[in-house]
Amino acid sequence: MLERILEEIGRHDRFLICSHDAPDGDAVGSELGLAAVLASMGKTSTIINPSPIPENLRFLPGADRILAYPQGMDAQFDAFVSVDAGRRDRVHPVDEVATTGVPFLNIDHHDGNDDFGTVNWCDARYGSTGEMIYDLARRAGVDIDLDLALPLYVALVTDTGRFSYGNTTPSAHRMAEALLEVGIAPDDVHRRIYREKTVGRIRLEASAMTHLRTTLEGRIAWCAVDAEALASAGIDAGEARDLIGVPASLRGVELALSFRELAAGAGTKISLRSFGPFRVNDFAARYGGGGHRVAAGLRLEATLEEAQERIIRDLEAALVELDASLAGEGAPR
Ligand code: 5GP
Ligand code: MN
Repeated sequence: MLERILEEIGRHDRFLICSHDAPDGDAVGSELGLAAVLASMGKTSTIINPSPIPENLRFLPGADRILAYPQGMDAQFDAFVSVDAGRRDRVHPVDEVATTGVPFLNIDHHDGNDDFGTVNWCDARYGSTGEMIYDLARRAGVDIDLDLALPLYVALVTDTGRFSYGNTTPSAHRMAEALLEVGIAPDDVHRRIYREKTVGRIRLEASAMTHLRTTLEGRIAWCAVDAEALASAGIDAGEARDLIGVPASLRGVELALSFRELAAGAGTKISLRSFGPFRVNDFAARYGGGGHRVAAGLRLEATLEEAQERIIRDLEAALVELDASLAGEGAPR
C-alpha cells in the first residue's frame, strides 16, 4: 500500500517509470505526476512506455522527455515503477529491466490487478491512477505546483470521462478543486485534449456515426473503422478509442463497443463500455484483454469483419445469459 511504496521510494535514487501500451491520459498524467513527485524528493527518473504517447497529450510539461521502447533502456536504474497497468503484460517489454532483484513497484487502480510487482499498491476504489499519485504527493508532503497539478488533472479528467463515469467520487471533485486552486485553466486543458481535432478526425467520427450498428434492440451498439480510414485521418487505433462515444450515446444502450483495425495485419483493437451490470473486464479477459468493470479493451488476431462477428455473437450470448441469471435471482433489471 501507500506507506510501503513511499518507504521503497525513499530507498532508491534512479527510477524507471512505465505505463501501459497505447498510453492514455491517466497513464501519461500519472507517470509525469510521479516523476514530478520524485523530482521534489531529490530523485531522478526516466519514463519509457511500450509505445509512443498520443499527440493530444504532448502539451504536458515534460512530455518531450517521455521515451518509447527501446529508447533509454540501456541506462541504469535502481527501481522500476509501473503505473496504471492492470497486468504485467501491459508494460511489456519495458518490464525487461525488472530482472530478479530490481524492486518493482506496481501502482494501479484496475480491479483484478494480480499484484505482479514486488511492492504493490493496487486499489480499485480509485477512479484513476492520477488520484493515487495525488494522494502519494500529499502523503510525501511535496509542494503541489502547476507542473504536478497539470498532469494529475489530465489523468483525473480523462479517466473519469470528464467527471461523467460512475467512478467519479466526491474525492475526485475535491481533488479537482484543489488542483484548480493551484491555477489550472480547465478550458485550456479541455481544448488541448478534446478540441484539437483535424478535419480528417471529424470525418472519421461522421463515418462511425453513419455506420453505427446495433443488435438486441439497441442494447448493444458499436462502430468500426478500418486501418485505411485511420491512416487517412492521421491517427492510430489508440487515439481512435474515444469513437466509442458514438455508440455509447445511444438511448438505452447497455454495451457499447468500438472496433479499430490495426495496421499491417496486426488484428483488431476493441474497446468496450458497460452501462449496466455486465462486467466488460471479465468478458475481455476471455480473449486476453482486461480493464475495469465498466471500461475494458482487448486485441483480437482477426480482421475487422471477423472480429465484429465473433465478439458481437459472444457478447449477445453473454448478455442473454446474464439476463437469465438476473431473472432467476428475481433481481430488478
Ligand atoms: P480503452 O478502451 O480506453 O483503450 O481501455 C479501457 C480500459 O481497458 C483501460 O483500463 C485499459 O487499460 C484497459 N485495456 C484496454 N485495452 C486492453 C488490452 O488489450 N488488455 C488489457 N489487459 N487491458 C486493456
Ligand atoms: Mn487508469
